[in-house]
Amino acid sequence: MASPTPAPCPPKGQALLEAMRRHLFSSQAKSASLATTHDHYVCLSLAVRDILLTSWVDTADTYTSQHVRTATYMSAEYLLGPHLENNLVSLGLREEAAAACEALGLSLEEMLAEEPEPGLGNGGLGRLAACFQESMATLELPAIGYGIRYEFGIFRQQIGPNGQMESTDPWLARGNPWEVIRPEWSYPVLIGGQTVIGVAYDTPILGYGVHTANTLRLWSAQAPDAFDFASFNAGDYTRAVLHKVQSETLSKVLYPNDELEQGKRLRLSQQIFFVSCSLQDMFRILASQGIPVTEFHRKFAVQLNDTHPAIAVAELMRLLIDVHGVDWDTAWSITTATISYTNHTLLPEALEAWGLELFQQLLPRQLQIIYEINARFLRTLRIRFPGQPELLERLSLIEEGPHRKVRMAHLAVVGSHTVNGVAELHSRLLKENLFADFARVWPDRFTNITNGVTPRRWLAVANPPLAALLNDAIGTDWCRHLDQLRRLEPLATDAAFLERWQRVREQSKERLAATIRQDTGVLVDPASLFDVQVKRIHEYKRQHMAALQVVERYLRLRAGEDLPPRTVIFGGKAAPGYAMAKLIIRLIVGMAEIINIDPAMDGRLRVIFLPNFSVKLGQKIYPAVDLSEQISTAGMEASGTGNMKMSLNGALTIGTLDGANIEIRERVGDDNFFLFGHTAEQLAAINRSGYHPMPWLENDALAKEAIDLIGSGHFSEGDRDLFHPLLANLCSSDPFRVMADLGDYRRAQNEVDSAWCDAGRWSMMSVLNTARCGFFSSDRSIQEYAERIWKVAPVPVNACSVIPSPSP
Ligand SMILES: *Cc1c(COP(=O)(O)O)cnc(C)c1O
Repeated sequence: MASPTPAPCPPKGQALLEAMRRHLFSSQAKSASLATTHDHYVCLSLAVRDILLTSWVDTADTYTSQHVRTATYMSAEYLLGPHLENNLVSLGLREEAAAACEALGLSLEEMLAEEPEPGLGNGGLGRLAACFQESMATLELPAIGYGIRYEFGIFRQQIGPNGQMESTDPWLARGNPWEVIRPEWSYPVLIGGQTVIGVAYDTPILGYGVHTANTLRLWSAQAPDAFDFASFNAGDYTRAVLHKVQSETLSKVLYPNDELEQGKRLRLSQQIFFVSCSLQDMFRILASQGIPVTEFHRKFAVQLNDTHPAIAVAELMRLLIDVHGVDWDTAWSITTATISYTNHTLLPEALEAWGLELFQQLLPRQLQIIYEINARFLRTLRIRFPGQPELLERLSLIEEGPHRKVRMAHLAVVGSHTVNGVAELHSRLLKENLFADFARVWPDRFTNITNGVTPRRWLAVANPPLAALLNDAIGTDWCRHLDQLRRLEPLATDAAFLERWQRVREQSKERLAATIRQDTGVLVDPASLFDVQVKRIHEYKRQHMAALQVVERYLRLRAGEDLPPRTVIFGGKAAPGYAMAKLIIRLIVGMAEIINIDPAMDGRLRVIFLPNFSVKLGQKIYPAVDLSEQISTAGMEASGTGNMKMSLNGALTIGTLDGANIEIRERVGDDNFFLFGHTAEQLAAINRSGYHPMPWLENDALAKEAIDLIGSGHFSEGDRDLFHPLLANLCSSDPFRVMADLGDYRRAQNEVDSAWCDAGRWSMMSVLNTARCGFFSSDRSIQEYAERIWKVAPVPVNACSVIPSPSP
């Protein structure tokens, strides 16, 4: 048991090739002459799936027979990215697959490009959930991921002359070779008096170099079989079908965040839907292993990824009490021993609260339970903090006022044994501000676990040239023990190594340049400094500040200043209802249009907006970044993970003291990080004394000139009104303190320009960024969750399957 598990024995390219041929016939029902590229992609995926199935089946067997303690991760979002290449790397089969494709006259690249991406998340939060799944499997931790199988993921973004246009993402339209439907595991959920059925779809999550394959279980909504038979029998066929359609709407589409009020009803329905199915599934597992329901908390640790699944607190209570006959006090100890909650944001507008009327309509029993939880909670508070009604009001699960609401974050805190933030600063601010009152009540409940990213997808898969160089220089251990990157440090001053480093970086930049040409038609010079900001478009992330900086650069270049050539690359989606974010995209697109055709900018400045930023595109972008823009208003970015991916791949950061930037800087060293801007504390002080942007702007001729140029219609075909809302906002309330940081941002950008001119020094700093980023592996994050919060131990899986290997 204790001996290390052998990696699965990889069949050679020949076996894959035969399996692909077989699947073309038996799965796609085609001859070679009719096969499309997509058919070949499906065949390769099925051939790979055949191989990983032994791990998946053995893992399920091991977990079931050993009654293992299991972590369950509940998340409304999983931004998975394509599976094929990741699975090939985990199985150690990438080269074999390339050979098999070649033998069929295909290229692996072509196959990989065919895979649609499951975009079941908005951004960082969903991507974190995906990195965590992969790390749990790699660390051989018994775990299940629970979520929603949205039929349409995050919208597709196209960029036209007017900025962002959205279309649907029918990622399942041509089938999905990576999932298995489990109709036998389906559960009813009562929402607003109607029953909806959730059906499990399972996707294997392979660990790297181990025999573990965990399960990601996503719920799809179905109308009950005997749907509305009354109408059906009365001859009202249409009405019966409408009900069916209504029920199935539940898992139809992922909500873009930062959206408006509309559609909230469906969102709350989605939350209870997947939470209830997941908890019922856990009770089913308990029963199948003969474990009494009162041992629920010994079998399962449940992690809530933000408040989206916070209704789990009330739903677990309901299932324990109403369905399994447990008394209130026992149910409450089980619930609070089971659940823990990760907070992802301090932004007040992102804190979920549901109107009581809506709640009452959809979930009357759960609301009753929430009232009872609240009554008991407030009773204990009254005893501990007598004569402090304001404190009780602030802590209550119910927000009073004309529109009474359920505060989901409060429900999550009260129902959890542990609450964590996702970077040190964020966790501290949680305790000092958002949850200050709760921290008084339960000081030990709050902790920090800094986020991380998986080195498999974000280095081995995304950056093969760098992975090969690392293997050569420090061995292959870094992929599972990212701390090993430390061993690069002595090489940061080795001229021969720096030259190889430089070549690797050039390759990544050439690859991105080709993508830019393909997606935008613009030619960029891979030798120029690639200055990149890719992430959701949001005012707090301050893409408009980066845009202002580019306009200033344009003005300086036009005035004859000599600055090193830069390619400024933006990417990211704006929520369809977030007008200001869309206007920021429109500004960048307008700038690109003018700047990229200006002969005076030739060889000096290019501006790119890459459409439809996604995991797939990220895999091409992150390795090619020279300068990583992490410029959020201090105190507003909980952690960030894009910052980690870039630094890990050798980018230097220009950033504020926000989120994980602080910890990145601590590790890579002050000399290898371009710091600027006010701290969260300084901004708080400025806010207290009353902030206004005008004093900052009045002393800044260059900023004024840039704003005037935008206002003159220079980037909007003479339209002086288009960007008015953006500029007026910046010059009046400037809620994200762009003007307060702009001058110092410019100073730091000037330092970047000088540093870039010393190519040798830049390369050294780049190596040191990679060498010192080992901490930011999601393996380290997950190890902390497992040890400190879940108390879940690794369970190695041995190859024991009697399933025949897939050779014909
Ligand atoms: C990493 C990642 C993010 C998060 O980026 P931040 O810079 O941390 O906001 C968002 N989207 C995708 C596709 C990612 O890969």
